[in-house]
Amino acid sequence: MEIRICHLYPDLLNLYGDRGNIIALVRRAEWRGIRVTVTSLGLGDAADFEAVDLAFIGGGQDREQSLVAEDFARGKGEALAAAVEEGMPLLAVCGGYQLLGLYYRTAGGEEMPGVGLFDLWTEAGSRRLIGNVVVETDLCGGRCTLVGFENHSGRTFLGSGCRPLGRVLVGAGNNGEDGLEGAVYRNAVGTYLHGSLLPKNPRLADWLLARALERRYGPGAAAALTPLDDAVEERAHLAAIRRARATRRRV
Ligand code: GLN
Repeated sequence: MEIRICHLYPDLLNLYGDRGNIIALVRRAEWRGIRVTVTSLGLGDAADFEAVDLAFIGGGQDREQSLVAEDFARGKGEALAAAVEEGMPLLAVCGGYQLLGLYYRTAGGEEMPGVGLFDLWTEAGSRRLIGNVVVETDLCGGRCTLVGFENHSGRTFLGSGCRPLGRVLVGAGNNGEDGLEGAVYRNAVGTYLHGSLLPKNPRLADWLLARALERRYGPGAAAALTPLDDAVEERAHLAAIRRARATRRRV
């Protein structure tokens, strides 16, 4: 079996170890004997999401986001939204997450058009939301926690066309007001959690790999994801929860 991963704008959007998400996906697939190819998609590159089983986009600052927003507007955004509509799994972190909504308005008043695959919008606030985060989600079968690190001024609000990834137990999440974190639409997941996120949240990594296998090989293909010994990953996860609880509350 093989999974084809597309890393969107790796040179522009890559903060706080976002690339570690790709490494975690590759390793967890290879440990099950599944081959992985990773292709990078940059400014001006032609996009063929038919040949992609799983896409990832990381975070970045306003300047880089602005370049990416322009590139998305030249047709790539539409192609990405169409692939998500057909079930392609996608993970989007922070700056990338913001650009997949309806718009992102910076502190300086610039309004970047979004791809619109998530029914959400983001406006910069005056104070940055920074620190460790613990989120409770039911995405990965049963209730579980996700841990990560957030650093954003953008406040994101969800419309009725997508659902939150989870509820914030520690940290600010989407906007520091409604207690929600991230967004889910079909198999696309948006979140403010950097980290890297996936190495210490193996359940989310496997959820994405499962959706990728199903996209490529059909129902039942996720059975190839045989259980791994995640003792080290679980220890890292619990250590992150302890650290977050010791240093921060729900914002
Ligand atoms: N520029 C965005 C913000 O501050 C995203 C930052 C990030 O990706 N960490 O809201």
